[in-house]
Amino acid sequence: MRLPVDVDGSRGEGGGQILRTSLALAIITNRKLRMKRIRAGRKRPGLQPQHLACVKAAARLCNGKASAPGGGELEAGMQELELVPGAGMQPVLEIDIGTAGSTTLLLQTIIVPALASGLALRCVVTGGTHNPMAPPFEFLDRVFAPHLRAMGGKLTFTLEQHGFLPKGGGKIVLEIAPSKLAPIEVLTAGPIIARRATAIVAGIPRHVAEREIAMAEERLDKPVCEIREFAKLGPHNLFMAEVELASGVRELCTAHGRKGYPAEDVADDALDMLEDFLEAGVPVGEHLADQLMLPLAVAGGGRFRCADLSLHARTNLETIQAFLDLPIRTEKHASGFDVIFG
Ligand code: AMP
Repeated sequence: MRLPVDVDGSRGEGGGQILRTSLALAIITNRKLRMKRIRAGRKRPGLQPQHLACVKAAARLCNGKASAPGGGELEAGMQELELVPGAGMQPVLEIDIGTAGSTTLLLQTIIVPALASGLALRCVVTGGTHNPMAPPFEFLDRVFAPHLRAMGGKLTFTLEQHGFLPKGGGKIVLEIAPSKLAPIEVLTAGPIIARRATAIVAGIPRHVAEREIAMAEERLDKPVCEIREFAKLGPHNLFMAEVELASGVRELCTAHGRKGYPAEDVADDALDMLEDFLEAGVPVGEHLADQLMLPLAVAGGGRFRCADLSLHARTNLETIQAFLDLPIRTEKHASGFDVIFG
């Protein structure tokens, strides 16, 4: 095994992404990870149940061992850990986060190491599928996955059950067939060729979803609309607005409802974000920019164009560079930045 990598989780954004990217790259590079000050920049720092689940999933995927420094058991709230990758990869993983912790963020930890291994994987994750501050299932499936497929990744995501705060219980299945990631360039946007609006109400009156969809019909040109209603889950409401551009890329913007905040405003928040994305004239939105970095870095090349680089995205780039000896540079240009790998 090569030299260990020390990661300070308080750098930059100081959030969960540093942890997930570090876990993924420890597996991919087969290097021991020593991490300190985990999520030091967050209100509740350290490993929350969702992050602990990511660590355990990463260790199981690579037959490795995750522990507190010195070998003790990891517990919620801890701010330090070690991961020693093992030999080979598990072909089947079943992970129950046990809370409404985000299944999509857990998948963010294992998708790229699994693809990079070139081996097959079936992974079933139980928890929250549509959480605030995380990609909803549809973002993984409809925005992120197409780029992985363009890179040569053979993978599918299936939403078997929705899961919302506070109970979770949602289920996503990830299936990967042996494949290899190759560089791609994502540089062009183009006019809109399809629009879609989805309102989800779980334990919330249907009229909330109907009012959100009405806003989408007012602001988008003939969107395909869908309402999903769940009597027994939640209470939760979210609204997703999506476009597909002529170059084949998609963007999906999400807003979550909260008590006392009108449904129209929830829809407007997501539609405003979508409008900002479209005005920028770039193919890669803020969250996709974050998420494309790891696969492109692991593929050893490629580039994408985005409007801006958030602190989150810049922190992710720094984390990647702690593991990989790959030049990554950004180039300013009229509509934003190109991020260039290799
Ligand atoms: P962190 O806040 O560091 O735990 O990272 C959150 C991750 O979730 C990042 O990869 C974000 O890009 C992603 N994310 C957060 N909100 C959304 C959203 N509405 N749509 C898509 N991705 C999201």
